[in-house]
Amino acid sequence: MIAFPHALSTEELIYQLQSDSAEGLNKTEVDERLGQYGLNSLSRKKPKGILRMFFEQFIDPIIFLLTAAMILAFVFGEWIEGYAVLAVILLTVLIGFFMEWQARKSVDALQKMALTKARVYRNGTLEIIQAQFLVPGDIIKLETGDVVPADARLIEAQSLGVKESILTGESNQINKSAEMLPKETSLTEQFNMVFNGTFVSRGNARAIVVTTGDKTSIGQISTLTQTAHKGRTPLEHKLNKLSHLLIWFTLALALLIIIAGYLQGKDLSLMIKTGIALAVAAIPEGLPVVATISLARGMLRLARQKVIIKKLESVQTLGETGIVCTDKTGTLTENTMAVQKVMLPERVVNFETKLEFSKDELFSQITAVAVLCNNVKNGEENAGGDTMEIALLDMARNTGYNIEEIRTNAPRIVEIPFDTELKRMATLHSINGKYLVCVKGAIESILDLCDTVLTDTGVHNLTDKSRWLSLVDQHAAVGLRLLAFANRELEERPTGEFLNNLTLLGVMAFLDPPREDVKEAIKTYRAAGIKVVMITGDHPATAKKIGEEIGLLDPENSEGLVIHSGSLPDFEKLTTVDESRLLNAVVFARMIPKQKLDLITFYQEQNIVVGMLGDGVNDAPALKKADIGIAMGIRGTEAAKEVADVILMDDKFTSTELAIRQGRNIFENVRQFVVFLMSCNLAEIIAVAAASFSSLPMPLLPLQILFLNMVTDIFPALALGMGKGNKDIMSQPPRDPDEPLMTKLLWKSTVIYSISITVAVIGITLYAYSYKNYSAAVANNMAFYTLILGQLFNVFNLPKRNTSFLKNEVTGNPYIWYAILISLLLVVFAYFIPVVNNVLNLVPLAFDEFAAIAVFSLLSLFLSQLAKRTGLTI
Ligand code: ATP
Repeated sequence: MIAFPHALSTEELIYQLQSDSAEGLNKTEVDERLGQYGLNSLSRKKPKGILRMFFEQFIDPIIFLLTAAMILAFVFGEWIEGYAVLAVILLTVLIGFFMEWQARKSVDALQKMALTKARVYRNGTLEIIQAQFLVPGDIIKLETGDVVPADARLIEAQSLGVKESILTGESNQINKSAEMLPKETSLTEQFNMVFNGTFVSRGNARAIVVTTGDKTSIGQISTLTQTAHKGRTPLEHKLNKLSHLLIWFTLALALLIIIAGYLQGKDLSLMIKTGIALAVAAIPEGLPVVATISLARGMLRLARQKVIIKKLESVQTLGETGIVCTDKTGTLTENTMAVQKVMLPERVVNFETKLEFSKDELFSQITAVAVLCNNVKNGEENAGGDTMEIALLDMARNTGYNIEEIRTNAPRIVEIPFDTELKRMATLHSINGKYLVCVKGAIESILDLCDTVLTDTGVHNLTDKSRWLSLVDQHAAVGLRLLAFANRELEERPTGEFLNNLTLLGVMAFLDPPREDVKEAIKTYRAAGIKVVMITGDHPATAKKIGEEIGLLDPENSEGLVIHSGSLPDFEKLTTVDESRLLNAVVFARMIPKQKLDLITFYQEQNIVVGMLGDGVNDAPALKKADIGIAMGIRGTEAAKEVADVILMDDKFTSTELAIRQGRNIFENVRQFVVFLMSCNLAEIIAVAAASFSSLPMPLLPLQILFLNMVTDIFPALALGMGKGNKDIMSQPPRDPDEPLMTKLLWKSTVIYSISITVAVIGITLYAYSYKNYSAAVANNMAFYTLILGQLFNVFNLPKRNTSFLKNEVTGNPYIWYAILISLLLVVFAYFIPVVNNVLNLVPLAFDEFAAIAVFSLLSLFLSQLAKRTGLTI
């Protein structure tokens, strides 16, 4: 390892690391070093091994309880029960293990897609690779927006600025250059080094990797290293709490039933068995597992639609989103810019209608600035880059200028890169022994620097700034994007500040039409009670017009809905008037990154879950701050993708809607199967309890309960977890993040559904045993089948009250029908197969007994539906 890379000359360092400044390393060297230094990734807590994952399934209160039941069964010599419980334990563990393994596999696969990339010279060519394959000695290239992929020493740097807050907490941009520094320079002052995990906020550079992985500065701050497994998601946590509650409830009840039955003079061993079986059966084994599968499936489904979710829990947060903040350019608009008008001081050149055009002095000067103060390389327009700058080159070319010639005649000496706060960019060129300052940017920002203007009759004092401002306003009002240009000729090379006393040359207007599909998405959001807020760096009038075109603003009624950053209140001292003004507004224009952050914080303080779309390095803090950071996959910088929770691989605003819809669906699915499982289990408990407290025969025998649960619990619950959701899900307001999983109404519904089933079960027992005087075995069997059917029918009670009984998300979910079919087949199987029917105490039944079963189980459905349609349940 190199001890003080910042204190060596780059030649010396490259020599010591046996690399080549131009060629980089070759494949054999890379392989060798990968073997020696390992992957360039921060060591995370080792992911759980397969075996560990398997055995961890046993460490669960549910399994403890089952084990206790099994031991009790064996102690009392109830071999069949004992083995049955053992089978349930193994099945529960196996299902849990398999599901967790599946979920982890899909999460891992998706996370791989979101790994940081790096630009590296290998064998003389510039390649883009996954940053984890970098080794010491690699020559890397850094550009604005990149995440620095390892600790590296700069070889050359052009206006390089880096944000190192992740390492030092300092949020300002740090300027970097390649000069050698003294040995004792502290880490924060090593301006010739760039550090793993920091963001390039401007400029570009070439650097040589010095350390990788855990040896990097960030790797050594152990608190920052991430843990591989995120623990449980909040949803799983909620479910776990719920199932623990149920365990205690069940235990207490089982005990009560045993005592009550004993006092009634029932057979003690049967009561103990029933108590055990109840405890086993009433526990919703599947809860947390089905939740994990639902979340993981949601992730996969979204990945197919080009939305990559980086963390499982984000799926849930997405469903709670109340405000979506988005920038304008490229997200709401096409980002296919073209120059429409060039406004010179005394005339307007209109490309829209191809009016007369003359290549005069004025036009040539503004074009020269457009070409010189521009970072897009001629002929490399397709390689990305600022679309506005590409449009400028296109315009110059189309009007007959030679870009190469203009650039060769005036080589660039200095660049002051585009700054989102100042909203301008400047360059200094040498030209025929003199110097030329070229500046372009937002009109307000440029006017501040100008005191003269170039007209057909020469340079004059700039006295009509307000005329320029209103000219710009006029064009912005029709949705055009505007950029002002200025220059200045100097005899000497400036030593200090040179952005003053500039000459205004004119303003260009660009057309960037709104995206077609955005309008529809905004409508959907409106119906879903989700507010879309445009936060843009652009001119307020341009933003307003685009806002109107996409349906964000009503042209007739937009008073007070567009806020200029200059008129933002002090976020520290907000009055109630300020608050309602902020909550009302839908467009924020000329915003700087700090203000974006303040606004998000403000929304969060109002208890709103905020989703934020972004692409630049400057968006990174806001993406991180938002509850859901959403980065653009194509246009987005590595920095934005790194901190985001969600990546839109197709850069489409409309995809956010898919993601939110999915998030909402999953939560609703989880709710549905929780209500389903709990109402079924509760029905069993009440039925058995009722029988124990009365002189009726047991409607359910212990093994029947186990069978029933393995049949009725698992398949329909899984099917509910896979549901595509209610079509109207996006016409409801967002869920309050504080709302519990089980609301009062859901608890009430659970109890009502379980009572409906119990009424049917107890009803048929009374009918068979007391009215028809059938034997206890027949009465029991009839109750057993009624319970099975009642539970299967119970899935049809889950859709909301306002949906039709025949056409809803449950009847439209094919998995539900498969689940019901499988369950019924298993019941038929149990009825006909001798060993099984013997174990379950099943006896042959006559046709009219089956008919009674059908009637009573339909009665349970009827009662639940009656309660639903009269407004008692969901
Ligand atoms: P959004 O934030 O919605 O994407 P935007 O692209 O207009 O909108 P910024 O990139 O912050 O936001 O730009 C703000 C303003 O800065 C623009 O309106 C323009 O006047 C000016 N500007 C943008 N890009 C450049 C550039 N490359 N050089 C000089 N000025 C620029």
